[in-house]
Amino acid sequence: MRKEIVKKINSSITSIDCLFCGEKNASELIPYDRYGVNCSISICTKCGLIYTKKNIANKYLSSFYANDYRYLYNDTPKLTDNFIKKSGDIGYAKHRFSCISKFVGSQLNNVVEIGSGTGQFLLKLAEANVSNYVGLEPGVAYSEYLIEKDELRGHVIRKFWSEINDEIKFDSELIVLFHVFEHLDKPRDFLKWAHMMLSKREGLLIIEVPGFDTDLNPWRFGINEFHMAHRAYYSSKILVGMLNECGFSVEKIEKHEKEICANNLRIYARSTITIKNSFDSKSLSDSGSEAEARSKLLKYFFRYGSTAKIINFIKNGFDLPTVGRKSD
Ligand SMILES: [Zn+2]
Repeated sequence: MRKEIVKKINSSITSIDCLFCGEKNASELIPYDRYGVNCSISICTKCGLIYTKKNIANKYLSSFYANDYRYLYNDTPKLTDNFIKKSGDIGYAKHRFSCISKFVGSQLNNVVEIGSGTGQFLLKLAEANVSNYVGLEPGVAYSEYLIEKDELRGHVIRKFWSEINDEIKFDSELIVLFHVFEHLDKPRDFLKWAHMMLSKREGLLIIEVPGFDTDLNPWRFGINEFHMAHRAYYSSKILVGMLNECGFSVEKIEKHEKEICANNLRIYARSTITIKNSFDSKSLSDSGSEAEARSKLLKYFFRYGSTAKIINFIKNGFDLPTVGRKSD
């Protein structure tokens, strides 16, 4: 099944402009990902964002997340209690809930989670009697499981954020995404939408991603560090620049949490500033030197860092066992 999906992805692959600034030019760092998808992980020559220059075409995107993504990532079509236990999600949700409630305090109400996955964070909200919360989960198998759960009845919507009309019946105070933002193909549009959703109450956006700062560890994970569903690789600097551009002010950054994964990056941003009319790449351009450094690091990795792993990968293609990060 995984092989068929990789074939399907490779046949629908198309060239993508920079996800954030729209620039066409990018220089390639790594030609393919851990599944053998030719996704050309590249660095934008204008704003320094590292993103997959080639990825699946828009017309296949919805059905990819609805039907194929979990096969590709977990090699499983179904969500079961046993799978959840093994996934570690229960512990991650507990840790996230503890960090976030410390920061937010008694304001933890009117919450929207984008990409609820196994639903463990929603269950923490239910347990804490949070008033008004909803989770968006477009994956068919996962949302089916969540919708059937008594505790979550009426709290799960099987939709992408971009498909939401008036299903959310409260003014959002908190929007959270845990290892979901890096999957978005239009991060700038999403940030604008989140700003609009939160603007009435000057709410908070909390984004957690695998951080692409200097602590990325390709020597340890090799090609397994990269996969096509991660549309972009965010460092804290780039993320702060993007959030500022879209009208958010960053209030806190949390990094390097052993409870989630070594390169976890969580960022708390308040929707307060008016959105700028046009993109100004200058605010991100100071990340240029950082981007250059990362580019060198990756080239180094590919040239010298892990020859054995690369040969193994070329030989075995997508049968290479996926080590994967703890949480995605
Ligand atoms: Zn760019």
